[in-house]
Amino acid sequence: MKQNPDNTTQMGEGRKRIAVLGSTGSIGTQTLDVIREYPGRFKAEVLIAGSNVTALVEQAREFHPSMAVIADESKYAELKEALAPLGITAAAGQEAINDSMEEVDFDTVVTATVGYSGLAPTLRAIKAGRDIALANKETLVVAGDIVTRELAGSRSQVIPVDSEHSAIYQCLRGERHEDIRSLIITASGGPFRNTPAEMLDGVTVADALSHPNWDMGAKISIDSATMVNKSFEIIEARWLFNVRPEQITAVVHPQSVIHSMVEFTDGSVKAQLGMPDMRMPIRLALGDGKRLATPKSPLRLGDMLNLTFSEPDATRFPGVTLGHFALSRGGNTACVINAANEIAVAAFLRGAIRFTDIYRTIMETVERAAFVGNPSYEDYVASNSEAREIARGIISKFAKASASDRYLV
Ligand code: NDP
Ligand code: MG
Repeated sequence: MKQNPDNTTQMGEGRKRIAVLGSTGSIGTQTLDVIREYPGRFKAEVLIAGSNVTALVEQAREFHPSMAVIADESKYAELKEALAPLGITAAAGQEAINDSMEEVDFDTVVTATVGYSGLAPTLRAIKAGRDIALANKETLVVAGDIVTRELAGSRSQVIPVDSEHSAIYQCLRGERHEDIRSLIITASGGPFRNTPAEMLDGVTVADALSHPNWDMGAKISIDSATMVNKSFEIIEARWLFNVRPEQITAVVHPQSVIHSMVEFTDGSVKAQLGMPDMRMPIRLALGDGKRLATPKSPLRLGDMLNLTFSEPDATRFPGVTLGHFALSRGGNTACVINAANEIAVAAFLRGAIRFTDIYRTIMETVERAAFVGNPSYEDYVASNSEAREIARGIISKFAKASASDRYLV
């Protein structure tokens, strides 16, 4: 039988205990793949899902965490009944998720939940001194200043899981901060990279979900198609690496082989390359930045003779400009953009608005939402609610307009 040599090293007590916030999603299941790959090194201690109780129970049966939590409280009875014979504690609701970050003993949380829901549990995990393997970039988009402040006063360390930020993290090892000239974040360009502007109004949900290089959850797939994801990554980079916004640029690189680059003051550029496989940055984050050997994901340089680069097209994809816009306007702007985007993406996914209405919804929400210059946590919570409400109103207007368009044709 083939055995991962790592399995023999840390059997039993020495294993790192992992909480997976969003264990049933794309990043969550790939995190469990990594835990499965290194049973002697990692243990799934807490598994948390939104509403998919069937998948959560199945995962709990396999990984035997001490606790499984589901956000959707209506699924609590089912979860509890299934887990009781296994001796696994069941809990439900947002408060239970937040509490689990402090009350259960674990080492690292992989923040693999989607959207604003990542913020509160991540702050609680930082408060408890847990290490953060950060996939949920929205946490930094919404309240990067507060998260950074909390981190400074905590023993938590953050290691990015987002492939671009994992690449930059690797490029920066051994370098001095003052030697950074710029961070160059690569973007695949998404499924509509070659779609003419006049056709973007009519693209379908299925088209938007079919990302050329990555198999991801629905929300980030749409964010990649609009390039709002790249804007979020610019904001994420600003907070993770403490650079000025003008030091961050995005470049379209359709092959997704170079995950990102750093240019230094002597003109030298470092890049990190690899196959597009999220388990690579997940392994690095779970290993505290140490490299865990794996026979998987070999990079076949011979297959990729044509690595290409181009400027993002902000006319067709204005979403790519939102990152710098939010950072220069400051205050609660990114929080408002994130909230409007979540509402608009959900509306697009259920067929209520057109693809191009997503950006319009975001900008109209920004114009109408109250600007808060130096927000507290409570201000962010209020801005998030207000922006969602405004965005819902805008969407019902777009939905009515597109229904009357249909009537006219
Ligand atoms: P998915 O939609 O695939 O998964 C989301 C997960 O979060 C699911 O397990 C879902 O549970 C769970 N969830 C939903 N609501 C809550 C809640 N309120 N509390 C706790 N858990 C909840 O998303 P992805 O895995 O694609 O993305 C996760 C995060 O990682 C996002 O922030 C994304 O931007 C980021 N990211 C993702 C990448 C990828 O390749 N997928 C790459 C880089 C970053 P349920 O299944 O029950 O709904
Ligand atoms: Mg990314």
